[in-house]
Amino acid sequence: TNRTFTMIKPDAVEKGHIGGILSMITEAGFRIVSLKLTQLTLADAQAFYAVHKERPFFGELVEFMTRGPIVAAILEKENAVEDFRALIGATNPADAAEGTIRKKYATSVGENAVHGSDSDENAAIESNFHFAGREQF
Ligand code: ATP
Repeated sequence: TNRTFTMIKPDAVEKGHIGGILSMITEAGFRIVSLKLTQLTLADAQAFYAVHKERPFFGELVEFMTRGPIVAAILEKENAVEDFRALIGATNPADAAEGTIRKKYATSVGENAVHGSDSDENAAIESNFHFAGREQF
């Protein structure tokens, strides 16, 4: 489809980067379909990152993602999933290209400022996890 799901993670919210990141997103041509400030519970984060539950960094990841508010959003653009992954850049900011959100705002491979869905299927699951149908404009 033409939609993806993103989170501005607790590190970027704490540092006051919500506005800067949303500007980069809208300037790249994405339309905001849904938007809110919220906080993940432990159960939310464990469910959201269940695919990583056997990885050594799972505990750290869940602790990080629940430590403060996040911004959740659904974004629309042609080729949204792939184009948004390109806009956010590599998971590790040391490998992220110039002009990407992680190059500008991420601190480390763990505290990397933003999430972007990795497939259309996951974009739909993640969007519906956070937003009711009437909140998806
Ligand atoms: P996201 O799913 O958040 O968009 P991604 O797809 O770029 O990130 P994944 O490999 O799916 O990266 O990892 C999910 C998240 O887990 C990363 O964004 C990061 O916050 C955390 N993470 C990944 N690798 C590590 C690591 N080696 N140490 C600590 N945290 C990590």
